Amino acid sequence: MTHAASSPWAVSVAQVAQRTGQTKTIDADFPAPEGIGDDIVGVNEGDLVHVEGSFDSIVDGLILNAHISAPMHAVCTRCLKPLSGSKELDVVVFFPYEMEEEQHTQDDVDIVAGEEEASDGNTYPLADGGTTASFEALLRDNLVDAMPMKVLCKPDCQGLCSQCGIDLNEHPDHHHDVIDNRFAALADLKAQLEEESSEQ
Ligand SMILES: [Zn+2]
Ligand SMILES: [Zn+2]
Repeated sequence: MTHAASSPWAVSVAQVAQRTGQTKTIDADFPAPEGIGDDIVGVNEGDLVHVEGSFDSIVDGLILNAHISAPMHAVCTRCLKPLSGSKELDVVVFFPYEMEEEQHTQDDVDIVAGEEEASDGNTYPLADGGTTASFEALLRDNLVDAMPMKVLCKPDCQGLCSQCGIDLNEHPDHHHDVIDNRFAALADLKAQLEEESSEQ
């Protein structure tokens, strides 16, 4: 028997579980679980993630509708400037009664694939005899999915000079007076082709 109630991600749902039509609101901070993103884009383990929403009890389980707000760090994909901000997302999570004390496995996803609430895989077991919902896995899974593939400090970030690494946002006129031999050869070819076509 697991004792999820002692974890920092435990939320007691004893008042509403097994009592259809009840609502329990939630407005609390939870430490970010480990493993969300990486050094480039992610949420630091232990940073406080705010969750605001409510549990509604239906016949076969609890539905959580919540807004998650997590502090996020990132570096600009083009200029590598460190950035900070927050990731905001809305989630709908289902805690079915019959999954109680069982692991969330791939088979469960297949079985419930036809049901609306669970088709996105946002289904988690209750613990401690159906009285506790743990937010650890749902916070990790949803935030991992929400991390952007790339982040820009501004939409038109100019990035870094590919030759010397200087920040082109701060030095817009920066350039190198180096003629690349490959381009010189292409320029010759282009001139030659233009000459030929004008002769026709
Ligand atoms: Zn940038
Ligand atoms: Zn340069």
